[in-house]
Amino acid sequence: MSETSTGLMMDDYPLSLTNVVERAERISAGRSVVSRRPDGSIHRTTFGECAQRARRLGSALAGLGIGDGDRVATLLWNQPEHLELYFAVPLLGAVIHTLNPRLHPQELSFILADADDKAIVVDESLLEVFDSVRSAWNFEHVIVVSHSGSTPEGSLDYESLLGSGEQMEWPTLDERRACAMCYTSGTTGRPKGVLYSHRGLVLHSIASALPDELGLSGRDTVLPVVPMFHVNAWGLPYTAAMVGAAIVLPGPRLDPVSVLDLLADERVTMTAGVPTVWMAVLQALDAEPERWDLRALQRLVVGGSAAPQSMLEGFDRHGLTVVHAWGMTELSPLGTVCRLPVELDSASEEERYDYRSRQGVPTPLVEIRARGEDGELIAWDDEAMGELEVRGPWVASAYHGGQGSGKFTDDGWFQTGDVVRISPQGCIRICDRSKDLVKSGGEWISSVDLENQLMAHPTVAEAAVIAVPDEQWGERPLAVVVVREGADASPEQLREHLARHYAKWQLPDRFEFVEEIPRTATGKFKKTVLRERFARAAV
Ligand code: ADP
Repeated sequence: MSETSTGLMMDDYPLSLTNVVERAERISAGRSVVSRRPDGSIHRTTFGECAQRARRLGSALAGLGIGDGDRVATLLWNQPEHLELYFAVPLLGAVIHTLNPRLHPQELSFILADADDKAIVVDESLLEVFDSVRSAWNFEHVIVVSHSGSTPEGSLDYESLLGSGEQMEWPTLDERRACAMCYTSGTTGRPKGVLYSHRGLVLHSIASALPDELGLSGRDTVLPVVPMFHVNAWGLPYTAAMVGAAIVLPGPRLDPVSVLDLLADERVTMTAGVPTVWMAVLQALDAEPERWDLRALQRLVVGGSAAPQSMLEGFDRHGLTVVHAWGMTELSPLGTVCRLPVELDSASEEERYDYRSRQGVPTPLVEIRARGEDGELIAWDDEAMGELEVRGPWVASAYHGGQGSGKFTDDGWFQTGDVVRISPQGCIRICDRSKDLVKSGGEWISSVDLENQLMAHPTVAEAAVIAVPDEQWGERPLAVVVVREGADASPEQLREHLARHYAKWQLPDRFEFVEEIPRTATGKFKKTVLRERFARAAV
């Protein structure tokens, strides 16, 4: 066969983030990067400046001995320093490991020990969180982004460090090299690390930017409400850099008025976040519909939990379009996006809302299928239900350290733990979840873990934790408890016991005391029965 017919004459050019960032540096240098500081002040810079500063930062980090495959942790908000690290660390050949400051110190400590990070960059406002976990891992370097002008003893000041660097020439990188890392909560409380590759994130950025996906262009101004510690802020910083969209980073203040002020003041065209944020924003808008000028805003991407139809309708009343998407940490995260197909343009309003509240069709290059309880693949008839499996160039094929191998099939598909129906056109609707987790305000709570802690209490014989629907948070945990014979337990006592191991927002709001918990033939709690009995009563 000739070289031409095998395609060998095409350049084997590496798909690395270096190209994405260098493009932003040269082609979109003037596009703005706006951020709100913790004190509320607005900071303005450009992609060009960020990319140049990233070169100095990269050189300074290399000077600290950080290089090939080393992990650099971040405990930061959506702020410009985070963007600089998003650029510098991967381009250096190292791995940026974003940490979620909302996790309980025990969970964070486990992650630190598992990830083997060499350095950490902490925002001054998160030093308290860092202090609660610093004994868990011996970082070689602690770097602090200071707003007060001082840094704690033993740490390096981010600005001074960056200032000591030179304009680094980025090395050529293999596209399959890891560039970023994010942990996902496990059902048993053992978080698992997902490592992203340059190739995966480049392809993810291209696909996300497509018109029928998140549809980003150089004319957009993007505000990721989704934190940069959550799956690379759904990839938006890289997608924005690739297409030259301006970016607005909201910092730590995510109350509805602060979000709406930024959306209006910066003439944001596209924003993204979990339903809890948008429910609160919608309430604020309903209360004062004239207060903000949101004419520039074309779409709000909602994912992380199901976007209720009432939310789609609510925003429509303000002339704002919600785009529903589904994703996972293991998918970088984009899996499906729901855009009304042209065939439904003349459908009834009811039909259109019904469609738009589905999670959508797979993004180009992502494949889906679902397997029923009998182990067979289900038909795409919108009736059969099965666990969704996916594969594609930005889907994880394993976890860090080889954990959780049971979540990947022998033929290389990732089992999502989401139970779906699939329409003949490939549009999914999530109907249930086979993983034993509660998702509250976009963050996970492990039911199994809470149950184990509850059962460790001397008065508790058995405990099952279920998710109950909640208008504000999407879901909240409810504990069903069987008290030991002769013992006495109160919700306050049990909450106090759990509070030693969990963050406040992870504690069950309700405790239901019962004589016995129904079980399946194999001895597992029958949570469907509990959900029927208690979840409905909770709404
Ligand atoms: P993220 O919160 O960034 O989406 P996670 O990996 O923490 O990533 O959570 C992924 C899970 O969240 C999915 O497996 C699913 O259970 C749930 N999820 C994500 N998007 C949606 C959605 N649009 N509708 C319903 N559930 C969703």
